Amino acid sequence: MDLQTCLKKMELVGVLAFATVDKSGAPQIRNISAIHYEQDALYFFTARGKNFCEELLSDGRVQILAYTKYKEMIRLSGKAYPVDDEGQVKWREKIFEEQPYLANVYPGDTKNIGIVFCIDKAEIEYFNLGVNPIFRETYSLGDVTINQKGYVITEKCLGCGECRKVCPQSCIDEGSPFKIRQNNCLHCGGCYEKCPAGAIIKK
Ligand code: SF4
Ligand code: SF4
Repeated sequence: MDLQTCLKKMELVGVLAFATVDKSGAPQIRNISAIHYEQDALYFFTARGKNFCEELLSDGRVQILAYTKYKEMIRLSGKAYPVDDEGQVKWREKIFEEQPYLANVYPGDTKNIGIVFCIDKAEIEYFNLGVNPIFRETYSLGDVTINQKGYVITEKCLGCGECRKVCPQSCIDEGSPFKIRQNNCLHCGGCYEKCPAGAIIKK
């Protein structure tokens, strides 16, 4: 798996869930399909009067979720910003060309109420529950630092093997210390709870 394949899969899913945070700090989710994909950015269209737009302009943080029929989850976490005036026309036309239904929703010049946002810096998590063991990996779009998640075994490990007994994905290898195969870990926390030595830490 890689970044470009993740973007392609998002495009194939088509309708994605976009999560933002409103003025009161409450989560808000909308389904969006007016999206154009470039190799290094996503562009999406909404209307200026929508609360969604207000949330994007005031905060910008957005999380996008795609889920495929093969049990793959792709989650993008980034910040959206409105493109410049020239880009507004260029990307809006591109999005309308690729999504013909939009001409029905915003016929003629009514599409001028729209605004195009761009996301060109984001973290993209790929999580496949349809394979054994499960597989996960994280990629960066643009210049972003990836937030490490999950669990890691430290030098305090005694080598007792208790963690391996409770791991649903059998993704802990023996060694000194024992080691979690990060690409196959569910982040369930079973090993963390079971370790008698407190050798496992949450990243
Ligand atoms: S349960 Fe803790 S001490 Fe035992 S092998 Fe696993 S990490 Fe090491
Ligand atoms: S967090 Fe869960 S899946 Fe990951 S190593 Fe620990 S027990 Fe296994």
